[in-house]
Parts: sequence; C-alpha cells; structure tokens
Amino acid sequence: MSFITEINRRRTFGIIAHPDAGKTTLTEKLLLFGGAIQEAGAVKSNKIKKGATSDFMEIERQRGISVATSVLAFEYEGTKINILDTPGHKDFAEDTFRTLTAVDSVIVVVDVAKGVEEQTEKLVEVCRMRNIPMIVFINKMDREGKDAFDLLDEIEQKLGLRVVPMSFPIGMGYDFKGIYNLWEKNINLFSGNSRKNIEDTIEISDLESKEIDKLIGEKAAYTLREEVELVEGIYPTFDRDEYLNGHQQPVFFGSALNNFGVRELLDCFIEIAPKPRAKQSEERLVQPDEKDFTGFVFKIHANMDPNHRDRLAFIKIVSGTFERNKPYVHVRNKKKMKFSSPNAFFAEKKEIVDISYPGDIVGLHDTGNFKIGDTLTEGENINYKGIPSFSPEHFRYINNADPLKSKQLFKGIDQLMDEGVAQLFTLELNGRKVIGTVGALQYEVIQYRLEHEYGAKCTYENLNVYKACWVEPTDPKNEEYKEFLRVKQRYLAKDKEDQLVFLADSQFSLQMTQQKYPSIKFHFTSEFK
Ligand code: GDP
Repeated sequence: MSFITEINRRRTFGIIAHPDAGKTTLTEKLLLFGGAIQEAGAVKSNKIKKGATSDFMEIERQRGISVATSVLAFEYEGTKINILDTPGHKDFAEDTFRTLTAVDSVIVVVDVAKGVEEQTEKLVEVCRMRNIPMIVFINKMDREGKDAFDLLDEIEQKLGLRVVPMSFPIGMGYDFKGIYNLWEKNINLFSGNSRKNIEDTIEISDLESKEIDKLIGEKAAYTLREEVELVEGIYPTFDRDEYLNGHQQPVFFGSALNNFGVRELLDCFIEIAPKPRAKQSEERLVQPDEKDFTGFVFKIHANMDPNHRDRLAFIKIVSGTFERNKPYVHVRNKKKMKFSSPNAFFAEKKEIVDISYPGDIVGLHDTGNFKIGDTLTEGENINYKGIPSFSPEHFRYINNADPLKSKQLFKGIDQLMDEGVAQLFTLELNGRKVIGTVGALQYEVIQYRLEHEYGAKCTYENLNVYKACWVEPTDPKNEEYKEFLRVKQRYLAKDKEDQLVFLADSQFSLQMTQQKYPSIKFHFTSEFK
C-alpha cells in the first residue's frame, strides 16, 4: 500500500463521556465489529472504584489497565482505527485534555436518562475550542430516558453544539422498537438480545411504506413519520465540511450494551470521520503527507515493574513514517535518538513495529529523556504546541521526610511532573515546593510512587490556594507590574517552565487583585501565547 493510501485509511479518535455513560461498553462493541476481540468483557474498564483513594493496589491496578487501554487499534472494512483512551474520572481529566491533542476526532457518549453531565461539558468544551470534529452517541435507549427532542435541545444548549440527527429512535425504554436511520434510510429493529451481533436491517426506501406499519404497528409508524418530518424540518442537513470544521455534530441513538445502533455509528464514522489532520507547530503547519517524520509526546507512562526504571512515551505521528532503528532528533534537547523496539498497540497486545504512519501512536521506551509535549523530527526545528497546563484544583506543600534521600526525592518529583502526574510550583519567597493536582487521588499516587520507584519519602502540608493563574503583564517594566511583584510576593511562584504564577487564596482575592492591577492578565491555563 502506498504512503498516501496508508494515511487516508487511518482514523484516530477518542471517546469522551462522563463516567458510566457507556464508554467502555461502546469501545468493546466497536472492537467486536473489528474482530479485534472475540467476546464481551475483554476490555477492562479503567474506572476507579469509589473509595479507592487510599487503596494502593487499586492505584497500581489502575495504572496497569491504563497502559493496556491507552491505545486500541483495529481494522474494520479496510480502515485502520486507533482509539485513544480518555479517562472519564475527573481526577484524571488532565490526562484526557492532553490526549485530545492527539486525536483527529471524537465520539461523545451521552446517557439518555442522565443527559449532559458535568465531565461531558468540560471535555466537549475543550474539543469545541480546538474545532475537533465530534459525533454524539446517545446511549442506553433500552432504558427509560428523556424525550429525544428535549435531549437534542439540551445537547445544543449545554454543550454549545449544532446537532444533526443521523438516526432517530422509535420509542424508548420498555417501548423501544428500534431506530430509523436517516443517513442510510432504513429501519433497524431492536430485539433486546445482547448476544446477537448484528441485527436485521430492513431497507425502507419510502417512509410512507405500509411495511413500516406492519413491522412496528400503526401508532408507532404514525409517530415515526411525524417525528422524522419534524427532524427534517428543524435540523440542518448533514454537511461533511461543517462537521469537519467543528460546526455541525451528527447524532446517533443506540444501546451499546445491546450492541444496537453501534454498527450504524461505526459505518458512518469510517465514512465521514477525518483522516489524520495537519497540525500546527510553533514554526509552521505540518501536513501528514510530508515525507519527513514528525511527531510529539502526549502521554508518558511509568513502567509497572519497579525493577525497570524505564517509561513508555506515547508519540502521535503527525507526518512521514516512523521507522525502527532510524535516528531522529529530540528537538528540545537537540539529541539524536534511535529506537530499537517501538511498540504498536492492538486490542489485546502490544507488538514491536518496523514502520508506523501518520495517525498512528507508537510507544517508545524512555529512561527519562522525554516530557509531555516534546517533539521528534528528522532534523527540522519543529515544536508542536498546544499541550496546556490547567490550573490545578488542589495544592499542598511537599516536604522531604528522609533527609538522606533528597536527591532521589527531587529526581522522582522531576520525572513524575514530566509524566504529567501533577504540577510543581516553586514559591518565589522561600523556594518551597508546592504540588498542584486536579484530584486528591494524585497525592497518594505520588507518595506511593516516590517511595516504590525512587526510594524517597515525602509528607504533605496543606496550603490554602484557590487557583493558580499564569501572569501576563502588558508591560513588564511598568510601575503597576513592579508593585504587583512586590506586594504579592508571598503568592507568587514559578512553574516548571519558569513561568510566573499567581497563587490566589480565594476567588475574592483574585477579583480584588484583578481590579487593582488592570494591566495584568491572569490566565487559568499556561497556554496563552
Ligand atoms: P463508562 O464509565 O463510560 O466506561 O461506562 P461503562 O461502559 O462501564 O457502562 C456503565 C454501566 O452502564 C455498566 O453497568 C453498563 O453495563 C451499563 N450500560 C452501558 N451501555 C448500556 C446500554 O446501552 N443500556 C443499558 N441498559 N446499560 C448500559
């Protein structure tokens, strides 16, 4: 197959959802269609059970699973599909934000009964900001839930999307009869049998056909005709360019658990979803079909085995081909590197690969050279941007509990921060180190890993911080900024990139500070330049 054919047949995406909406179940059904797994239950949920906060075994188990499910690749109808895992748990939201920099599109799963939930809102907002093409899958149609039109309204309003229904449910819950596929113009009847793989699809070229009345009953047929008319009247028709630009979002209905409506979703997905897209670097826009390889690190995973200190860096290939044993340049530290055993990931295994194409993810063994956001090229000075840090939600001082192991402690902290486990801030006033995390769970993970992987011990101390804001002065030389630096010194810190951060202790004090120093901008993310 030619290089261009290889690019064109790839689809790299993520499934985003609030926990419990059905992401794992849907992933599994997609893999079943691809023949990548043989039975349901093969995909492990990477969910953290309630109350797992202090259960280290649970954390370790979680880490193991998250390596295994980081990338799931399979083939379907000649298409190479790469699903990137996006943890739904809010403590790992930052992981998900970073993974979204490596996807070309997403599928958003919404629970028909619960509607739009908090995590979905946050994740969709990130995708919207980046104009990532999105398809919505409304799941659990076998259960009683919200009215389809109400739910579509809710999705438009809460998520700020412009929906285009590609299918429409016939009934719901107890009365759920099936789905009318507006895209393929056929009816799919629900049998409610989860062991059945592919349901019978009945081709209906004419919605007026009496055949429909026979199949689902006169009353349901009447309602269906009315609703389809309404759908066609209210919603725009599907326009692929609008979808690809992030201006229109096709919607499907189904039941992942019953494997219902999933094939329709997948068939439409491979037809409309984008092939690997061009990516903006600080220097220029890079096209996937360029000859020279470029790629970037979006995730780093520590080895499960504490005897091996090496880590796995996940690289998204943006352009060219990535080849085993070929020297590439690590742009940040200007080092040449060769990789003798790059890993590719399949549903149930990982394998060493000789060549990978744009859209693919390779896992590279790393002894501490990489950090999140690093770029690899064949020599050109390219730096991919867009892996922002967000203000953490929790802040604690970290103290060394074993003075003989301070070197190990600093090395450990350094590497864990490179992996993106948490963020480190160093106070301007006294050099004390503060760890900021999205969820409280990370503190346990850090303490445990410092001890088991680096032989270092730490304790934490509470610190009252509401938000970390990246500080951007209009003019670093003006008096207002100088005064700010002097008056607020106690609240200032540097992040790992040496950028100045204001640690506001309350929403009120942040507002007061903003009022007092109007020429200074306070950003909730590190990506503002
Ligand atoms: P995740 O947290 O988004 O990965 O959600 P899971 O895939 O683990 O699903 C959460 C729960 O919802 C599980 O108990 C699933 O069996 C159930 N579930 C998933 N899809 C459906 C569906 O279509 N119908 C029903 N009734 N339950 C479902």
